[in-house]
Amino acid sequence: MARRNRRRDTPAPPPLPGGSERVETGPDGRDFRIRHIPAARAVKTYRCPGCDHEIRSGTAHLVAWPADGGETAAEDRRHWHSACWANRATRGPTRRWS
Ligand SMILES: [Zn+2]
Repeated sequence: MARRNRRRDTPAPPPLPGGSERVETGPDGRDFRIRHIPAARAVKTYRCPGCDHEIRSGTAHLVAWPADGGETAAEDRRHWHSACWANRATRGPTRRWS
């Protein structure tokens, strides 16, 4: 029997090869880590906090999570339309993040 219960002590997923990850300031002024999700890897439908509309599977978008989120960072990840993230400063999230 293999070890099934790996400790979830890694706050964020490992960086992708090629280093497509970067840090930007989020809509609430905190630093967020940003990772682009190419269409081929967008296998689920998410709801964008920027416009409150769905991000359909197969749509390239990005995911953001608090850079200083520690153990809860992975749970705080949010999937955004690329355009909505770009406009986050003017639109702001439609929902509270915490
Ligand atoms: Zn959106």
